[in-house]
Amino acid sequence: MQRESRKVSRRRFLKEATGAVGAASALTILKPRWVRGAEKEFGVVVLLGPPGAGKSEQSRRLTARHSIPIISTGDLLRDQVRRGTQLGLQADTYMKAGQLVPDSLMNPILEDRLSQPDCARGFILDGYPRTLAQAESLDALLKRKGLPPHIILLEVPTERLFKLLTGRRICPRCNRSYNIYFQPPQKENLCDADGTTLVQRPDDKEEVIRRRLDTYQKETQPAIEYYARQGRLVRVNGDQPPEKVAGEIESKLASQ
Ligand code: AMP
Repeated sequence: MQRESRKVSRRRFLKEATGAVGAASALTILKPRWVRGAEKEFGVVVLLGPPGAGKSEQSRRLTARHSIPIISTGDLLRDQVRRGTQLGLQADTYMKAGQLVPDSLMNPILEDRLSQPDCARGFILDGYPRTLAQAESLDALLKRKGLPPHIILLEVPTERLFKLLTGRRICPRCNRSYNIYFQPPQKENLCDADGTTLVQRPDDKEEVIRRRLDTYQKETQPAIEYYARQGRLVRVNGDQPPEKVAGEIESKLASQ
C-alpha cells in the first residue's frame, strides 16, 4: 500500500516534470538509454537523517556502486571556508555555531554545483534539504531538470547519535570518516587509506552537537514530514552496521 503510493507520487512528479500524458510514457521518455540497460540506475538520491546518522558513509557506497557524484552541502560550504571566499567567511559563523547557513548563501552554491556536467545523469545529495523551504525549492529545481528524486531517511535513535558524533574522526586528506567507539581506524588516530592523522570537526564538539540536533528537530523534521505526507519517504534503519544499511538502501531503491 505504502509502496504503491510512493510509485504514484513518483509518476506524478515525472508527469508534471515532462507534461507527458501517460505516466508510463513519461518514465520511458525520461530514462536515457543507460538507464534502460541491464543495471538499474537511480538518478537522484536524497539522503536525509540527523547529523551523525551515516549519510556520508552511505553516499560513498552509493557513488561507488552507481557512478554518480556525491553532492554534500556541508563539504561545499567547508570548501568555501577553506578557500577563504567571501561566502565562506559568512557561512563559517553559522557553521561554528551549529546553525543552518541561510538559503541566500546556501542555494546559489548548490545550484552552481548541480549545473556542472557530472551531475547531468543524477547525483547523491547529502545534507540538503534541511528545511521545508529547501525541500520545496529542491522539488522545483529537480522538476526543471526532469530528475525525480528518491528520498531516503536514515533513522537512528537520538541517544546513539551523541556518541556517533562525539566519537567521529575525519581524514582531512581523503574525507574518510571513522568513529573511536564503533568504527576505529586500524592504527590509532591514523587513516587506514593514506596514514594521515585524523581530526575532529570543530562542530563535533559537545555543545555544538546539542545545538545541531536541536536544529534538526526544529528545522529538518518539517521537511521530512512534507515528504512523508506525499508518500515519498523511504525509511531505512540506520542503526545497524554500514554494510547492512547499504543493503537495505539498495533493496528499497530497487523496489521503487
Ligand atoms: P554537515 O557536514 O552536513 O553536517 O553540515 C555542516 C554544517 O554546514 C551544518 O551544521 C550547517 O551549518 C551547514 N549546512 C550544511 N548543509 C546545509 C543546508 N542544506 N542548509 C544550511 N546549512 C547547511
